[in-house]
Amino acid sequence: MTRREELLAEMGLAPIWRLRKRTASGPTAEQRAERQWIEIKQAVPACTACGLHKTRTQTVLGVGDENADWLLVGEAPGAEEDRLGEPFVGQAGKLLDNMLAAIGLKRGDNVYIANVLKCRPPGNRNPEPNEVAKCTPFLKQQIELIRPKLIVAMGRFAAQTLLATDATISSLRGRVYRYEGVPLIVTYHPAYLLRNLPDKAKAWADLVFAKKTMQAL
Ligand code: URA
Repeated sequence: MTRREELLAEMGLAPIWRLRKRTASGPTAEQRAERQWIEIKQAVPACTACGLHKTRTQTVLGVGDENADWLLVGEAPGAEEDRLGEPFVGQAGKLLDNMLAAIGLKRGDNVYIANVLKCRPPGNRNPEPNEVAKCTPFLKQQIELIRPKLIVAMGRFAAQTLLATDATISSLRGRVYRYEGVPLIVTYHPAYLLRNLPDKAKAWADLVFAKKTMQAL
């Protein structure tokens, strides 16, 4: 620090050139992202854009590392998720955690998990098109903020929403797509796998494919 800076510091003042630099540069990208996370974390619980707000216990935004390389996207909260406010904490979530462990990943550790819908459809019915349309902007914003290296779309609703297609999961598997430039891989939904055990082997192949894709990025 120069003598002049020392004198200014004693008076509790910052040198004018430093002040000018701070105001001229504005918030950094990290500060903007932090602000946007605060906004989305307030906006989602306050959302009344579709009828699901009337029946939810609470919204379920997502969980995990907000700077993760891996983003996993499911369909919508179920009963347990609605009760606890975290995605994939029921039976399907246990299977998902095991599948992640099998490829060396762990919830919250370089992994973020979100859903297309942030509110539980009553009785775990399928999301309706207007619910998906109203809720998708939140997921899009999450993807913009996280900027993952790879998205894994689990199940029909995640894949069809992010890829804007009505193709089936079985026809979409095994290829790398792009969502807003981010590589995206499609696999079965863990809840589907609980009901269709033979397809677990295909989901395993999808995860190995995802891991290899990530390693090559
Ligand atoms: N199924 C989903 O798609 N998401 C959850 O959070 C739980 C079950």
